[in-house]
Amino acid sequence: MKKKISAIVTAAVIALSATACGKSETKDEKVVRIAYLPITHSLAVLEEADELEAKEGVKVELVKYGSWNELTDALNSNRVDGASVLMELAMKSKQEGIGIKAVALGHHDGNVIVVKNDIESAEDLKGKNIAIPHRQSSHNILINDALAKAGLTVEDVNITELAPTEMPSALASGQIDAYCVAEPFGAMGVSIGAGKVLYRSDELWEDSICCGLVLTDKFINERPEDAKNFVDSYKAAGAELTKEKAKETAKKYLSQSDEVLDMSLEWISYDDLEITEEAYDALVEKVKSYGLSEEPPAYSDFVKNDL
Ligand code: ZN
Repeated sequence: MKKKISAIVTAAVIALSATACGKSETKDEKVVRIAYLPITHSLAVLEEADELEAKEGVKVELVKYGSWNELTDALNSNRVDGASVLMELAMKSKQEGIGIKAVALGHHDGNVIVVKNDIESAEDLKGKNIAIPHRQSSHNILINDALAKAGLTVEDVNITELAPTEMPSALASGQIDAYCVAEPFGAMGVSIGAGKVLYRSDELWEDSICCGLVLTDKFINERPEDAKNFVDSYKAAGAELTKEKAKETAKKYLSQSDEVLDMSLEWISYDDLEITEEAYDALVEKVKSYGLSEEPPAYSDFVKNDL
């Protein structure tokens, strides 16, 4: 499932108008194709697309996907120039030889562990069914962190992978007892009364990394100027994402209720999106110690801050 959104339409309209006036120039070569999932974790790139639509130069074509696997396939086969993606998934692709670089964070904090209302502590998770969106995710790491607080590991629970959209109803029906996933699906579970927040991510893992903005080496090498402009604009858009602006952008792209968005946006921020070596190395340690990957890429091979 994917859907192209307005930026490319605008570019096409401009190109058509130019042709109609007798000019053959198009702006297609300035379009940057970025894959995303409709979650609050992608708001910086959605906000950037909105801002750039109104300006000259680089245009962003947003390509929406319905699952991380579909999005990763598109990124790994150069069908898009970049993506807002779970960092662990991108690290795995890099490890497997895919030419990509992480150029910025998607957001700070912004995850919660939602549990059934009768679960009071990490100890109570023993033997329970817990959902995560993908093994390669910070949601998996956060579940491991929460279990560790009670001296438990994933061996003491049943971990299951579930699509983010299915988690709130799976909790309500009793199919699962807890979950951790990109927002706003945690807030949604709380808002329908299916569960409550046991931990916010910042209570388990300070300065956690979750999503990143990742660009293909092909795009960076073939269009270095566009790549630099794109990343600079992305960071500027993130810095401008106040709670009010984030909600405005989220309402445009996510079709969620005010109640869900108000709750969810309290947990996340988008300023200062540079990936620091310290935060990345902390992620690498967790990826190794919780068994997500034995050889995640080194900071110097994977993170690019100097476009
Ligand atoms: Zn995220």
